[in-house]
Amino acid sequence: MPRAPLTEEQKQVLRDRLAKAREMKKSKPKLPPEPTVPIDKVEATTPFTPTPHTQWTERQWGIAPIAACKARLALLKVDFEVGARIVGQRPESNDPHTYRCFVCSTPIPESKWVWKQDYLDRKTGVYQSVVICNQTCHTRYINDVPMQRRMSELVAQHSQATP
Ligand SMILES: [Zn+2]
Repeated sequence: MPRAPLTEEQKQVLRDRLAKAREMKKSKPKLPPEPTVPIDKVEATTPFTPTPHTQWTERQWGIAPIAACKARLALLKVDFEVGARIVGQRPESNDPHTYRCFVCSTPIPESKWVWKQDYLDRKTGVYQSVVICNQTCHTRYINDVPMQRRMSELVAQHSQATP
């Protein structure tokens, strides 16, 4: 059924509403400019450099009002926890090609290794794993001192061996 034409009064209501909306839009503060490459336009295969975030210096942490420090810590914690949870659930994170044997470089599906060592990657603040695929590779590893040295350098401190 076709709509009845609007009365002059109804048209005026619409005009007023439109004018009000335009006025609201004008008075709105300008949003900061969009980043040059929006994150969803970054191709998964493009080498990705994280946006440098404004890191506080030790001095800033030392002199900023304590409330500001606590607020910042809370934000960073939320950001970290959300990021870690979502990245951990992404299919790429569980891709067998993510894990490669430290000795022979063969891709290893999740939990099919005979040996695993987690370590904190200081650059990203994210835990990484070094894995060894089978007993043969593990034997090679325990008999190869330079390889063991490379491993210790990689996992230096903050590490926890898991079977
Ligand atoms: Zn191997």
